[in-house]
Amino acid sequence: MTLADSTTEIPVRERFAELGQRILDGGEISRDEAIELARIEDNADIMDLLAWANRIREQFKGNKIHLCSIVNAKAGACSENCSFCAQSADYQTESPRYGFVDPEPVEEAMSEANANDVTAVGLVAAWRGLKEGPMLDEVCDRIREMKENGKSRPDASLGLIESQAVADRLKDAGLSCYGHNLESSRRFFPEHCTTHTFEDRLKTIQFLKTAGIKICSGGIIGMGEEREDRVDLAMQLREIDANVVPINILNPIEGTPLENQEPLPPMEILKTIAVFRFILPRKEIMIAGGRTVNLRDMQSMVFTAGASALMVGNYLTTLNQPVEKDLQMLRDLGLDPDWDNDFADQVSADGGCDSRCGCDHQPAEASTTA
Ligand code: SF4
Repeated sequence: MTLADSTTEIPVRERFAELGQRILDGGEISRDEAIELARIEDNADIMDLLAWANRIREQFKGNKIHLCSIVNAKAGACSENCSFCAQSADYQTESPRYGFVDPEPVEEAMSEANANDVTAVGLVAAWRGLKEGPMLDEVCDRIREMKENGKSRPDASLGLIESQAVADRLKDAGLSCYGHNLESSRRFFPEHCTTHTFEDRLKTIQFLKTAGIKICSGGIIGMGEEREDRVDLAMQLREIDANVVPINILNPIEGTPLENQEPLPPMEILKTIAVFRFILPRKEIMIAGGRTVNLRDMQSMVFTAGASALMVGNYLTTLNQPVEKDLQMLRDLGLDPDWDNDFADQVSADGGCDSRCGCDHQPAEASTTA
């Protein structure tokens, strides 16, 4: 069997070996090569692809698994119209609505995370974004309290940021990583959101990077996008040098425009995770919302497909399986949730991040000042 669209027409197994070995040797794949992989249909071929993705994960991530949980600090009544989201004010859903929370629920979430070896806890709010003013002061207070309150890293996902000053304030409060998904490709984005743009999201990420904050950015698959859109999302995440890449799988919520969207087959989901690992070999690829409902008994295969991070505890508007069950799954697979490398494993052997990063990790020869 050959890859149908491959110009090389070499057997598929040899093609995986060629691309996989190139990544193990420190190289990368092109958009066209990633699309070749994303178009594979045969289950036996997908299993071969997963085996290579697993090998790449093991080489660059070892057996460490980064765990995240979230605390919903402000729920519902969001001004934006993301078509997958139960928290948009545009849609009639059963999702709860409440204003910005007091310190206690955040403290509880931190304590639970500390008890379960969870790497990071994200403070999440359903609103358009964060501006300077009293709300930013309150957010910074909560981040400071989280930092004082245990060993899990305080992260935040608080929507669009429209000035450098806001990102700098978050950094000063002790924030080291911010979650801001691109959601899908630049082409597909306007089909699921019209109240803000893909460029708005990229601009937010740029402010955060300039402030020295690590980036957690991924997307949601299964919204009706093409395979090429998923590849383009991963390529864009490679371009912005995201540190953590959450892959959410649509869980259609009654009352949203996507309530009747056909679910992605589990093998298509696993293949997508593998393609992300080929494109982003050193990054934390995190499986987030929609895992339980879409993958069911195949959840543990996300690690074979190349995932190195897991969202545990409940999601924003839907339930997840209990944390104890996830921890047992990791133990059964020989994986270790004790992750505390501060993203040091995303630095290449020559001491530098890849050419797009722009961080302080310059290769030894490039760091020599004139
Ligand atoms: S995804 Fe975020 S910005 Fe979009 S509607 Fe939901 S809460 Fe609002």
